[in-house]
Amino acid sequence: MLAAALGALVLLALLLLLEGTPRSDRSDATATTGRTDAGADGPSSLGSYPDIPRIDVHVHFAPSLAAEALRIMDAYGIRIALNASGGAPHAGLGLSVEVARQTAGRIRPYCNFPFGLVEAPEFARMAVETLRLCRQMGAVGLKVPKSLGLGIVTSDGMLLAVDDARLDVVFETAGALGLPVLIHSGDPKAFFRPPTPDNERYDELRAHPDWSFYGMRPDGRGPWPSWESVFAQYERRVARHPRTTFVGAHFGNAPEEPDRVAAMLERYPNLVVETGARIPEIGRHPPATMRRFFDRFQDRILFGTDLGVGPDGLTLGSRGLEPDPPERLPAFFVAHWAYFETAGRGMAHPTPIQGRWTIDGIELPRAVLEKLYWRNAARVFGLDPHDPTRDPAARGGP
Ligand SMILES: [Zn+2]
Repeated sequence: MLAAALGALVLLALLLLLEGTPRSDRSDATATTGRTDAGADGPSSLGSYPDIPRIDVHVHFAPSLAAEALRIMDAYGIRIALNASGGAPHAGLGLSVEVARQTAGRIRPYCNFPFGLVEAPEFARMAVETLRLCRQMGAVGLKVPKSLGLGIVTSDGMLLAVDDARLDVVFETAGALGLPVLIHSGDPKAFFRPPTPDNERYDELRAHPDWSFYGMRPDGRGPWPSWESVFAQYERRVARHPRTTFVGAHFGNAPEEPDRVAAMLERYPNLVVETGARIPEIGRHPPATMRRFFDRFQDRILFGTDLGVGPDGLTLGSRGLEPDPPERLPAFFVAHWAYFETAGRGMAHPTPIQGRWTIDGIELPRAVLEKLYWRNAARVFGLDPHDPTRDPAARGGP
């Protein structure tokens, strides 16, 4: 009798243990993936404010994978995404415009521009025609890649500078046409330092040696410019075109120095910035400092992720040699929501390969989150997340 009772107790204990197993497994998995307790599924994949729509102003989507991109957007509350790999009028833009039509305006392209043709005869005329076509075809803006300043070489062997006077016509025309300019100049400061194991971006630099801008250029025709000199080119470009709206990519191209970004935002009313792939970097600053920044410039910061969906897989802000696994998508987005919406400390950031540190959340109030997530982008690009089909109308104002 006693043995039977003991046996029943042991069985009960075993059942309770088994019952508890999935739970403890789950919290183990949570700990090892570094996810916050916001979790990976259910309403938490939309953060604490699932009713606020989001416009992501910085993605790279292959037109052939629009359906997959749309599924990701739906899962994480992105109503409209602006594709920085939209193509140029005779090189891909047509396909991207077709995607915009097929997705009822939810994936819209920026126009890319052939800056490498700067020395071609009649470049200025070609530039104006190209941008007019961009506008006519339905591009929401112009994307300027970092290869301007850090890649395109002219016949004299020099890198084509961001502020090269021959390109003035491009930026003036974009402004006249009401095309905001998403501009990526420079790169993380660590990419300009020796790519050695003590470099805080060594994981990325080891996977992509060509991302290093330290020392001599690979073509041997000269040294890489300094981070400061590329940033100065970018600033002169923004200063030169007060009637053109600039969206400074990657937190205004200086996520390491919020004070520098603040000074530019103060100085240039035609500038706004976006957050693409820089939550890891800005999340390292004291949260009170960043919260003040987001409060002070609440009308000037746009939400961007730099999410890539391509034939070679996913890129969650940045990646190593292999594409990022789809299983990391929840952690990527939830880390964004956790940074903006919570006061969490020592949290995992969205893009682990960018560095082995944690971030602290800035717990923005709802009114600021609405501006960050969509209102500012809606104003700058003339979009309506509640009706993505609505064509950009009064866009172009910062
Ligand atoms: Zn990008």
